[in-house]
Amino acid sequence: MQEAGESALTMEGSLRERYEAVQKRVADAARRSGRRPEQIKLVVVTKAATIEQIRELIALGHQDFGENRVQQLMQRTAQIDEHCARLRDLRGSAPDIRWHMIGSVQRNKVRKMVELVRLVHSVDSLRLAEEIHVQSARRPQPMDVLLEVNVSGEISKHGITAAAVRHVVQQMDTMVNLRTRGLMVMAPLNGGLDAARETFRRGAELFQDVRGALGSRGGAGHGSGDAFDLLSMGMSGDFELAIEAGANIVRVGTAVIGVPSTEPTTGAETS
Ligand SMILES: *Cc1c(COP(=O)(O)O)cnc(C)c1O
Repeated sequence: MQEAGESALTMEGSLRERYEAVQKRVADAARRSGRRPEQIKLVVVTKAATIEQIRELIALGHQDFGENRVQQLMQRTAQIDEHCARLRDLRGSAPDIRWHMIGSVQRNKVRKMVELVRLVHSVDSLRLAEEIHVQSARRPQPMDVLLEVNVSGEISKHGITAAAVRHVVQQMDTMVNLRTRGLMVMAPLNGGLDAARETFRRGAELFQDVRGALGSRGGAGHGSGDAFDLLSMGMSGDFELAIEAGANIVRVGTAVIGVPSTEPTTGAETS
């Protein structure tokens, strides 16, 4: 147990309280949208978390974590692998932790990344998809990826335009080391909740469009509509809206982790 005062984070309550509150909000939003809570996957984004916080979330039973930079992903996975190896020594078993890449990826980092992650949310170009395909040849299974779509058309945003998505998904469907599992959508940066709601509505519509188009291809390749089943939308400020619009993966950081009071953390040191 840790006492208050050791934390570099400012936000009400303990990590556990925040985590459980977010889980409950996810579950409530799922029910409001006619689904069961377990149909929605919560990815806790750990880019501003300490290693202690990640371990505590693992102790609470959490298994899905997201990072947005390959460098930090490499550090985190090494530290958490070590932690899980210790748990295995102590108890004979350890949880299966799933890492998600959610940020833009430089092509020279792909080789390392594909060894470490279960799902890449942020494929934002055909060139990146090709590189992941090439580097995934040695993986035992194809790499699961989502295509990041710039639904709102913001200049500053990464992602494929809505108009190009069907074409790009068809191209990706020919890459045997990839499984294109769905779309990732982000709300406009400072657009407020109405803009977020509208972006998520359009994201969900696009997702259903592509899914329908793949389904009617008659099952050539592995990209049938059934395997196109993941829609990643929603962050701390808007995840309930995203679920109500149809998201089945949300990526939540600060609402669980808290807000760093200083610079983003790379270690646990506080001054
Ligand atoms: C940081 C980040 C999140 C989480 O953001 P919060 O507002 O902290 O919940 C989600 N998705 C992406 C792509 C991110 O970079």
